[in-house]
Amino acid sequence: MISAVMPTYARTAFALVKGEGMYVWADDGRRFLDMGSGIAVNSLGHCHPKLVAALTEQANTLWHVSNLYRIAGQERVADMLVANSFADTVFFNNSGAEAVEAAIKMARRYHHGAGHPERYRIISCDGSFHGRSLTDLAAGSNEKHREGFGPMPEGFDHVPFDNLNAMRAAITDQTAAILVEPVQGEGGIKAPSPGFLKGVREMCDEFGILMVLDEVQTGNGRTGKLFAHEWAGVTPDILATAKGLGGGFPVGAVLATEAAAKAMTPGSHGSTFGGTPLAMAAVGAMLDVVLAPGFLPRVDKMARLLWDRLGAVVAKHPTVLTDVRGQGLMVGMRCAVENSVLVGKMIDNGVLTVPAGDNVVRMLPPMILEESHIDEAVQALDKSCADIAADMAKEKTG
Ligand SMILES: *Cc1c(COP(=O)(O)O)cnc(C)c1O
Repeated sequence: MISAVMPTYARTAFALVKGEGMYVWADDGRRFLDMGSGIAVNSLGHCHPKLVAALTEQANTLWHVSNLYRIAGQERVADMLVANSFADTVFFNNSGAEAVEAAIKMARRYHHGAGHPERYRIISCDGSFHGRSLTDLAAGSNEKHREGFGPMPEGFDHVPFDNLNAMRAAITDQTAAILVEPVQGEGGIKAPSPGFLKGVREMCDEFGILMVLDEVQTGNGRTGKLFAHEWAGVTPDILATAKGLGGGFPVGAVLATEAAAKAMTPGSHGSTFGGTPLAMAAVGAMLDVVLAPGFLPRVDKMARLLWDRLGAVVAKHPTVLTDVRGQGLMVGMRCAVENSVLVGKMIDNGVLTVPAGDNVVRMLPPMILEESHIDEAVQALDKSCADIAADMAKEKTG
């Protein structure tokens, strides 16, 4: 018999029932160090006092009004994002899928408004993940995600990731935009070569097409900058984000330059739930913390420490792990064993991690982590690798 919760996920046997800071508790009493943040969402850990206070106050004041009215929280949060990014304007919605979908719509609408409706095609990369709406599936590259859901929306051209020549060759007079993740997340925590984003920017300028970044996973401080593209020294025309934006509250956003958003007139796009007072209270509190002086440099420092320690463990266990990669607190470890085996062993050793494509195990810890948490995670990883190596030796002899 089908479970009451539709079985679209392979879930753990235990349920998580409580969280505080870097830790979560299961219904069987076990405590876990959360190095996954609910897939890069709980950016300030669990039940951060500032987020709890902001949400509690807002819950006692006003939850939802719709976008027929001005919403003070939206104006405050949009001002903060505009002041701290390339963007001139922000559209709010509720998830990564919606944010990428809106970014794609905006790119098409821009060329339509400029008198070029024939420019509707989007170039995206092999190995990318952009969400589960039909359009986002067409933009992404995962055949398995698309299986049985066709036909896919038309207008997407895929090129190898991190290959500027292939990208250039794919541009036609129908190309509207290039859509990329600054670091591929679900695809296996793949960072491109240093000049890649700059090359994409130059290509977009040369051909009059829009650079659209999917920073759903890389954004909101995770790499040590508010947005990951800042490391590359270039700015996009449109950016989609979500995951960590609300620190655990579901919310997405599309950031854009004034030029790119020119055709987004009243009635052109909408969302009933987008940018509710409740969501904006969470985002405002999250940004207050992340944008406070010293916070992001500290994230960068902790990330470097984590990388150092993980590198040592990977070198020690070559039969289990082959490399560490990514950027900031978006770390992937490629496995020589099945990645789910390592995720399971890490659970046994008290740490939550997240699997990704290309047989990778991800660490996406809350940005509040401290050195003691790094020690704890690295010790658990060391022990998990040793446990797996011992299991393998037993299998061989036994
Ligand atoms: C998670 C993710 C999405 C989809 O976000 P949802 O909130 O699950 O819809 C899109 N793009 C990237 C890069 C992501 O990591």
